[in-house]
Amino acid sequence: MNSDAPLHLNGLAILPGQQVLTRLVISKLPSGTVIDVPVHVIRATAPGPVLLLMGGMHGDEVNGIETVRRLVRRELVQPLRGTVVAIPLLNIYGFLNFSREVPDGKDVNRSFPGSPRGSLASRVAHRFMREIMPLVDYGIDFHTGGAARANAPQIRCVLHENAETDALAAAFAAPFTLHAGLRPGSLREAAHALGKPFIVYETGESLRLDEAGIEVAVAGTLRVLHHLGMAPEAPAAPGPGRVCRRHRWLRARVAGLFRAHVGLGDFLEKGQIYGSVADPYGERALRLVAPVSGFVIGLNFMPVVNQGDALLHLAVEMEG
Ligand SMILES: [Zn+2]
Repeated sequence: MNSDAPLHLNGLAILPGQQVLTRLVISKLPSGTVIDVPVHVIRATAPGPVLLLMGGMHGDEVNGIETVRRLVRRELVQPLRGTVVAIPLLNIYGFLNFSREVPDGKDVNRSFPGSPRGSLASRVAHRFMREIMPLVDYGIDFHTGGAARANAPQIRCVLHENAETDALAAAFAAPFTLHAGLRPGSLREAAHALGKPFIVYETGESLRLDEAGIEVAVAGTLRVLHHLGMAPEAPAAPGPGRVCRRHRWLRARVAGLFRAHVGLGDFLEKGQIYGSVADPYGERALRLVAPVSGFVIGLNFMPVVNQGDALLHLAVEMEG
C-alpha cells in the first residue's frame, strides 16, 4: 500500500500519522469470554510500505511474543514512512494453555488460508487473511523452537526466488539464514501465493525466554525497517551470517537419556561424537557419531527420548 489513503481495519479508518491499538474479535471461550487479538497500527505521515510484525502464532512460543511486545513497548518501530502493523500474540488460546495449538488441537500455521466455517484454527487463519493480510506488503513472523527443541537464531525463507525476500533476509542478518520450503497451510505459503515477501525468524525453545535471541530479533527487525526506508538508521549487522541451503535432523536410533556434547551454533565435524543415549539403569550407553558435518542450528533439550525423536538439527550445506 503506497498511498496516503486511510487504512481500513476492524471498522476503523486509520489515517497517516495515526497510531492505534485495535482489538480484532476472533471468537468466544466456552465461558462466553470474548477472545480478541490486539493489533497495533503505527502509520507515518509519509506514504510507504506496510510491514507486518507478528508473534505468537504458536501460543507457547514466547520469544516471538516478547520480541514484538518489546519493539512496540520501546517505541522502536515508529516508521519514517509507511506503516507498521504489529501483532504480539495471535494465538491467545495457546498462550493461556501453554500450548502451540488452539484448543481443538490444530495448528493455526497449518490452517491457512482458512475458512469461516472450518475448525477453530482455520477460522483464526481466515480472520487473519481477511483483515490483516490485504493491508500488508511484507511480513516477519516470529517463532520459537517447538517443545524442548531450541533453535539457534535463524531466518527461514525461500531463497533465490524473490529478490525482495532475499533482501529482507539479508537485511535482518541473523546468524543463520535457512532456505526452507513452504509448508502447506503455513502463513508463509499463504503470503507467497499473494506474492508478498515474508520471512520467519526462529530462536530458542517454547516457554523459555532466550534473551540473546530476542535481542538479535529486535536488531534484525530494525535493519529490515531501515532496508525498507522506514527507519533512518539501524544497528550494524554483527556479520554477514551463514546461509544454509540444506539442513537435516539427526534422530535417536534408540530410546533413553540423551545428553548432547555440543551447543547451539557449534560446528560439528563428520565422525565427531556429539552426544550419547543411555539406558537409565547404567547398563548401556550409545555414543552418537555425526554422519555429516554441519552447524548445530537446533538442539533437543528434552533428555528423555524415544526412538526417532529429533536430537539435533544440522545446517549441512552452506553458501558462499
Ligand atoms: Zn512456531
